[in-house]
Amino acid sequence: EKADIGVTGLAVMGRNLARNFARRGHTVAVHNRTPQRTRDLVDQFGAEGAFVPAESPEEFVAALQRPRRLVVMVKAGDPTDAVIDEFAALLEPGDIIMDGGNAHFDDTRRREAALRERGVHFVGSGISGGEEGALHGPSIMPGGSAESYRTLGPLLESISAHVDGEPCCTHVGTDGAGHFVKMVHNGIEYADMQLIAEAYDLLRRAGGLRPEQAAEVFARWNSGRLDSYLIGITADILAHADASGKPFVDVVLDQAEQKGTGRWTVHTALDLGVPVPGIAEAVFARSLSGHADLREAAQGLAGPTVGAGEVAGLAEDVEQALYASKIVSYAQGWNMIAAGAAQYGWDIDLAAMASIWRGGCIIRAAFLDRIRAAFRANPALPTLLVDPEFAAELDAAQDAWRRVVATAARLGVPAPGFSAALAYYDSLRAQRLPAALVQAQRDLFGAHTYRRTDRDGVFHTRWDTDRHEESAD
Ligand code: NDP
Repeated sequence: EKADIGVTGLAVMGRNLARNFARRGHTVAVHNRTPQRTRDLVDQFGAEGAFVPAESPEEFVAALQRPRRLVVMVKAGDPTDAVIDEFAALLEPGDIIMDGGNAHFDDTRRREAALRERGVHFVGSGISGGEEGALHGPSIMPGGSAESYRTLGPLLESISAHVDGEPCCTHVGTDGAGHFVKMVHNGIEYADMQLIAEAYDLLRRAGGLRPEQAAEVFARWNSGRLDSYLIGITADILAHADASGKPFVDVVLDQAEQKGTGRWTVHTALDLGVPVPGIAEAVFARSLSGHADLREAAQGLAGPTVGAGEVAGLAEDVEQALYASKIVSYAQGWNMIAAGAAQYGWDIDLAAMASIWRGGCIIRAAFLDRIRAAFRANPALPTLLVDPEFAAELDAAQDAWRRVVATAARLGVPAPGFSAALAYYDSLRAQRLPAALVQAQRDLFGAHTYRRTDRDGVFHTRWDTDRHEESAD
């Protein structure tokens, strides 16, 4: 019997994906550069379904029914290119290679173009949910041709997470679209985590709560509109005591690391000209935390002279600030997806992106139903902030949100995420921005010109002589 699909690269992710396919009744060919991993998989999990082990690439390719569907789950970067080159030589027109690794979407675009020339479909696919997700149902974000999705999509949908009976997998768009939205997903994840961390810090340092008390607050929030995987694990972590008897959160070194997808998101946003300050602040906050040298040097700097004291109603205010800031960072993420789609010619369904992130992935949350509803009601929504329901919630939250940012500033508790989100909200809704002054400065020192509010055209003032205005059209 020929295999329905093949998986090469059998470390944690590939092994669990292969098992997931097998458990769903698909016959799976399995291959790994080092054959021992293939043997281990079949020895340990062979009873879970139909596996066809292959020791060589030739054997692997020969085991697949045509058109062949081949999933690559190897280390991202050069190894992915090496494996693609090796297998592409053995494939025929119409066959499909899917890369489920964490590739940069530029690499995916390059690989897709090269394979398309040979008639082979290349599908760069974001996969979120870590190793548990890979086994039990991840959120899957495939790019590549629409034709390839007709052949590969049903298999992917069968192993993805499901919410309300709907798969957390859809064809995102052509070439690099899948890896692009996976990148933005991770950027949003960074922002969510930063906002939650700030909320915790405020509850503790401004509210005087012990970690186990803060855990109760998060658990309560998790049964409301903030219901999400990340809020749930936060409650769990804060309630956890270390073997030393101290709260676990107090024994972890306070230097956050990153594997790079947050940085990619910000870098790409800068290239696209999309403001994503919520994501950027989260990436910079991790970066700052890791600068032990700078932090050490700054230990003697003065803080506020006022003491903490009880801040009345703080937890309720922080919930409002967290929710409002979350709306802002998701709004920025969706703006970025729309900008990427416009730049690269992808026809991305913005409501569907919310749909496939409702399960399987790290940012899964009840909140995503609301985002889906907003884009279904108006697919051309310029920003989530102006969806009537979100706008009303932001209005209801804003007084508390402002109090929280003010409290943080007054007590010297850093809240870059909350502050940046509020500044974004106030900037967008401002009738006039001081950008007018910036533009005037640019004209004065660099003759960069300006436009006027009262008539069309481009102008320059002769600052160097008699300050008369001339047309610069
Ligand atoms: P790793 O990233 O640790 O990669 C190990 C696998 O890559 C092994 O199968 C290894 O084979 C293979 N490999 C490395 N170099 C080569 C090469 N030159 N030629 C052939 N094979 C090679 O594995 P993970 O399972 O952690 O991740 C797989 C992919 O999935 C990565 O791109 C990762 O970024 C992505 N990913 C990971 C997630 C996670 O939670 N871990 C979540 C989502 C995506 P060998 O056994 O022979 O060394």
